[in-house]
Amino acid sequence: MAVIIDTSKCNGVDACPAGGLCIEICALNAMENVDGRPKVNGEACPECGLCVMNCPNEAISKSGS
Ligand code: SF4
Ligand code: SF4
Repeated sequence: MAVIIDTSKCNGVDACPAGGLCIEICALNAMENVDGRPKVNGEACPECGLCVMNCPNEAISKSGS
């Protein structure tokens, strides 16, 4: 499993209707701003699903292998 971001639905933090909420909401700082785009640090992310549920564009999902 992994948390993945669909870049066809997320155009980066500046374009995010929620101002990069996925980065703010992650209590473990596993979602990082890399050159203006959210990026999951897989080693720090236990896939709690919080960012998945709160992305206004439904751009984040959990995916098998
Ligand atoms: S909350 Fe969704 S749309 Fe906003 S930056 Fe994060 S992944 Fe992109
Ligand atoms: S699934 Fe949870 S731990 Fe992983 S990046 Fe999203 S909010 Fe952070």
